Amino acid sequence: MQIGFIGLGTMGLPMASTLVAAGHGVAGFDLSSTARNAFGQAGGTPTDSPADAMANAEAIVTMLPEGRHVREVLSTEFLNNLPAGRLLVDCSTIDVTTARDLAKLAQELGHGFVDAPVSGGAEGAGSGALAFMTGGEADAVARAQPLFDAMGNKTLHFGPAGAGQAAKACHNMICGITALGVCEAFALADGLGLDHDAFFDLCRNAAAQSWILENRCPVPGPAPAAPSSNGYAPGFAARLMAKDLGLAQEAAKACGQETPFGAQAARRFAAFTQESGGNLDFSAIYETVRKSR
Ligand code: NAD
Repeated sequence: MQIGFIGLGTMGLPMASTLVAAGHGVAGFDLSSTARNAFGQAGGTPTDSPADAMANAEAIVTMLPEGRHVREVLSTEFLNNLPAGRLLVDCSTIDVTTARDLAKLAQELGHGFVDAPVSGGAEGAGSGALAFMTGGEADAVARAQPLFDAMGNKTLHFGPAGAGQAAKACHNMICGITALGVCEAFALADGLGLDHDAFFDLCRNAAAQSWILENRCPVPGPAPAAPSSNGYAPGFAARLMAKDLGLAQEAAKACGQETPFGAQAARRFAAFTQESGGNLDFSAIYETVRKSR
């Protein structure tokens, strides 16, 4: 399939590269020239504008930070000028309203639209092992399936447009709350003089095991591949975790469900992002948790 891929960051670059490796023709654009060059080195075709990347594409994949970026790239003007019948697959984590608005606009103009946020981190993106949470018309999801199969190993269809983003908001609320729980437990273990390696070994092999604990252990050392052991380079930037927890709070408000742990996690990551700039991995919040002793 001929694919236009917009957003070649921590996630987008390995995802687009996986599509290239699976034999798809991929034209990619990112605002960053470093990202465009890296994509060229991975065998993709970098372009000088989003319009060039999307011009001859049967399917357009977006992997951008926030809803406003997706709206900017998939603008009404751009979609109006696109020949009808294209498939738009937004893998970014964004708000449900933007996903629904874009799906409606795309449908009016004769395009398919799928919201398909992912889980699995940069590791999953690099190894084609992402999970896709999808929302949209069943035929559009079916058309996108070869792309999901190349980039991931699990696709779940949650319902109409926006349902994929709703599932992702709930999923990442668990991740944010868990991350703070893991940080607090390591801070307490530290305060009690426990050895980090031994405590990590206990937790990963006992009931406290989780993906967050194993892959985003907040203290340097026990997990050599984790961001904490590599200067807290993301991974998943704290600003993105703060954004996702904010999206979960928006969604909770919209349906009237109280989520006090989610609300607390949203406040903590928003404050950490404001203090630090939010560009380190979210597990770097550990230092602020430990300092509050
Ligand atoms: P990132 O900040 O590393 O990458 C985003 C890229 O988009 C950057 O390279 C940036 O230059 C580019 N960009 C921004 N605006 C653009 C525009 N108008 N046109 C073209 N390029 C533009 O972010 P990421 O970690 O790759 O995350 C992308 C999305 O995936 C986010 O919504 C995030 O919440 C979600 N996500 C991230 C992870 C993770 O582990 N990093 C996991 C799951 C989901």
